[in-house]
Amino acid sequence: MPINPTDKIWFDGELVDWDQARVHVLTHSLHYGSGVFEGIRAYPTSSGVAVFRLTDHIRRLLASAKVFMIDVPYGLAELVAATKQVVAVNGLSEGCYIRPIVFLGYGEMGLNPLLCPVQVAIAAYPWGTYLGEEGLANGIRLKVSSWQRHDPNAVPTAAKGTGMYVNSSLAKVEALKAGYDEAVLLAPDGRVSECTGENLFVVRGRRILTPPLSESGALHGITQDSVMTIATDLGYEVDFEGLVRTDLYLADEAFLSGTAAEVVPIREVDDRPVGDGRPGPITKQIQQTYFAAVRGEIDRYKNWVEHVE
Ligand code: PMP
Repeated sequence: MPINPTDKIWFDGELVDWDQARVHVLTHSLHYGSGVFEGIRAYPTSSGVAVFRLTDHIRRLLASAKVFMIDVPYGLAELVAATKQVVAVNGLSEGCYIRPIVFLGYGEMGLNPLLCPVQVAIAAYPWGTYLGEEGLANGIRLKVSSWQRHDPNAVPTAAKGTGMYVNSSLAKVEALKAGYDEAVLLAPDGRVSECTGENLFVVRGRRILTPPLSESGALHGITQDSVMTIATDLGYEVDFEGLVRTDLYLADEAFLSGTAAEVVPIREVDDRPVGDGRPGPITKQIQQTYFAAVRGEIDRYKNWVEHVE
């Protein structure tokens, strides 16, 4: 999915031209993956464009930075305002993807990151749904990866650290080369963790289950949290529960959730159709409710929708 350039990027407190948001080749994070980042979406609503759960995303960004001992030179309110400014100044009234990144810049080399300058950038640009319209409508095919999800004592799985994503990229490439759309990673204990950039859910009767965060090494997804709230409000029994791969094969329905991917049905895992191999009714109901929520169409979820003036 190519990047669609816009006009301005917020870079260290200023709006700079898209092509001028550059770094030196000796930028610390380029060598050691020592940054933290977020992926956020804004959607059009009847009262203008709004960023979905912006404050929660920036909170997670700052929490990731805390884990990596990065002192971010801007606070929550400043970063929330800066994100809205980037959406507004680029005229992204139809919605967009937003990528904030905190990284360690040029000045020090070596594995002690504490002396490096901390830099912050926020870019926003139009971006279609990550796994494609066809996947959103008819479901995607997953492969259990031969790559394992991180052990939480190897890297902090609760944080969104840039370097940690080499694990996701290896799994993604393996799945794509084998003809699948996305990979599922298992945790070191063999239980299901998550996909390369999405959380996973299975539906069993009226129960909707997702792997427990700390044990599975999955990121605590903001979409996952939204789905859990929506599904509970729709009257389903929603729980964190340890899953093994056969729980995916034998689920009535399965779907994944993430800011970029949104809510996507899973139609096959390792060549076994999930249910009858088509998106199930509960998945569709949750997906539709999610899309209405992000567009500010449901009063109950209005506080998730943060308007850009
Ligand atoms: N897991 C991983 C590894 C991710 O990168 C993401 C995307 N941030 C998610 C899950 C889903 O998180 P969210 O719903 O907050 O986008």
